[in-house]
This record gives sequence, C-alpha cells and structure tokens, in this order.
Amino acid sequence: MSQEVVDEFTACEIAGGFRGGDDAGDLATTYPIVEIFHSVQGEGAHSGSPRIFIRFGRCNLRCEWCDTNFDEWKDFTVVDILGEIMQYDCQNIVFTGGEPALQDLWPLARCLKAREYHLSIETNGTIELPDGLIDWVCVSPKDQLYPDVGIKQRSGDELKVVFCGQDLSLYDELIDGFDHLFLQPCYFENESVEWNGHNFQATESLVKANPGWRLSLQTQKWLGVL
Ligand code: SF4
Repeated sequence: MSQEVVDEFTACEIAGGFRGGDDAGDLATTYPIVEIFHSVQGEGAHSGSPRIFIRFGRCNLRCEWCDTNFDEWKDFTVVDILGEIMQYDCQNIVFTGGEPALQDLWPLARCLKAREYHLSIETNGTIELPDGLIDWVCVSPKDQLYPDVGIKQRSGDELKVVFCGQDLSLYDELIDGFDHLFLQPCYFENESVEWNGHNFQATESLVKANPGWRLSLQTQKWLGVL
C-alpha cells in the first residue's frame, strides 16, 4: 500500500469513518467538488426533507438559466468527502452539480453505502446511470434548450421539468418511465420580474390542466438558503 493511501486511511480514521471493508483505491479516488452542504431539499418529491448535498463540478450542458458555478471546484478524495458529510446527523445524500453522472460514482457510492447512506441523484439524463448505483433518481431533462441531446436515462423515480414555455408533449415518450412528474417554473435571473411572474402563473395553469404533473417550487430560494 502506498504512503499516500496509508495517509488517506489515517485521515479517514481520524474522521471517524474508517471501515475495515473499505477498498484503498475507492478511498483515494478523487472527485471535482464545488461544495458539500447540509440543507433542506427545496424541490420535487422530497421537498422539505433534510439532505446532504454533494455538488460536483463540470457539466456537459450550458443552460442559460443555470445558477451553479460548476466550472470552479476543488479535488476531494473520498476520504475528504466522508470527513465533510459525517459531521452532519443525516443519512440522506443528494449527488448534484453540475452533472454528477459525468463522474464514475461507484467508488464513492460503495463507501457511502457501506455506511448505510441513502443516495439520490439529480441529473440532466444525458448519461445513462448504471443499475444499482443510486437509490433515488431524479431526471431533469433540458431538451427544451437542447433538442438534439438525447435523454439516455429514461427511467427513474422523478421527472422534474423546468418550465419556461415549452410544450409538455416534449415529454410524452418519457413520462411512463417515472413514478413522479414535476413541473417547476424556471426562475430566470436575466429576465424581468414580470416575465418570471407570468411564467409562474403559466406553470400553475399547466398543472391544473394536467393533473398527472405536480408543482415543484425552488423553496430553498424563497427561504434564502442553499
Ligand atoms: S444541466 Fe443543470 S448544471 Fe448543467 S448547465 Fe444545465 S442547469 Fe446547469
């Protein structure tokens, strides 16, 4: 075992996270991390429930309304990540980004599952997820902006559509693959208060006319928390 990996193990023991079954390679794997924080899920089916969010750097899309600076990150080993998350009394983790599916998430997932964490992901769906990796899959397709980028992850627990005026029929071929359907009004900082207000109203009207869909609001923004 290299000195580097021994150091990683030692750091993990200090963090209280060492498990005899951990693979040394898994613990030393690095990921681009923008931030790790404990908050309350503000969107979708788990709205109102506390979660630890691991925000990964990098994305394969460039949505004009994106509010995440996913181009700036630091490299964290799995040991570093465990040290961060184990300070919180919470067993529910959300992989978000950026686009977390750009990473090989298995090494991190193995170490987290060994510690009985429940793993969710928020993905744009352009990369298919391996079976058994994630416990709760939320796909938020962006084909209203990128109609030529195919959705590869066509099943999951929730489909969360950011609504900015597109036709709902865009999702006709996707909806059967998901248990929960959410429409979330796009909050577009570059647009006027009026535009955003009209878009909120349009989203509400669409949900009333299509009761298979439910309204998702970014309540974390209303609360002014992460
Ligand atoms: S897919 Fe998500 S993270 Fe990537 S640019 Fe679009 S909104 Fe931002």
